Amino acid sequence: MKNAFTVDVEDYFQVEGFADAIDRSAWESFSTRVGSSTSILLEMLAKHKVRATFFVLGWVARKHPEIVRRIVADGHEIASHGMSHRLIYTQAPAEFRRETRDAKALLEDLAQKPVVGYRAATYSITRRSLWALDILCEEGFQYDSSIFPMRHDRYGIPDAEAKPHVLTTPSGSRLVEFPISVLRYWGAKIPVAGGGYFRLFPYGVTRWALRKLNAQQQEFVFYVHPWEVDPGQPRVEKARATSRFRHYLNLDRCAGRLGRLLGDFEFDTMYSVLARRNLLAPL
Ligand SMILES: [Zn+2]
Repeated sequence: MKNAFTVDVEDYFQVEGFADAIDRSAWESFSTRVGSSTSILLEMLAKHKVRATFFVLGWVARKHPEIVRRIVADGHEIASHGMSHRLIYTQAPAEFRRETRDAKALLEDLAQKPVVGYRAATYSITRRSLWALDILCEEGFQYDSSIFPMRHDRYGIPDAEAKPHVLTTPSGSRLVEFPISVLRYWGAKIPVAGGGYFRLFPYGVTRWALRKLNAQQQEFVFYVHPWEVDPGQPRVEKARATSRFRHYLNLDRCAGRLGRLLGDFEFDTMYSVLARRNLLAPL
């Protein structure tokens, strides 16, 4: 069973956990590391002959168009991670529409292909921002992967459908949703999809949980950020302790675990996985 391997392409200083310590206006003053860390991921994917979906932040694409071109040249899918990494539920709909449209146009120009997939910064499509799904439909997106079906301080719709499905937006349109994967186990929900959870749990636990999902005929989505394979990144000491814990936990183990994951499971782009489920048109 093919699962979706996804990468959210952003730099270490752009994560929501550091937003209190690093203002957006200061981003330009940081020396970027996203190019070299994305290369590490591209090399791993090439070695395992895996095609993935890269949700690229518009800010990164504008500053480093060569990263987008390289991802495309390697045969991967380009999708959108928005422009500015603002939480959707803190944006006005008009502002969200403008930057979503700008990022899509920019990415399509660089990729020379339609960009039809979207992932919100910090999975910030929640009950408060479901209106964003209508805007995604209107702006030409075919699928979204922003809903985390569990409770968390920054994101999550705890009772949301956990499998890939067609959802109905508030105004009645249809949009394909690939929710972030969780395993239901003895009444609990275990987040097994990647990121900080992948670095937190021992790899054996992750493999057990992902195998269980596949055994239930459920494809999972795995996500990782380039900065998670860059243990040498500068430390943001001003950030809150919880944010630093989440960000720096086991960074040095991530690349090794990824190598095992790529060997143990089968992956493809998110579009291909959804098309195989007949939720999207065949490529
Ligand atoms: Zn992000």
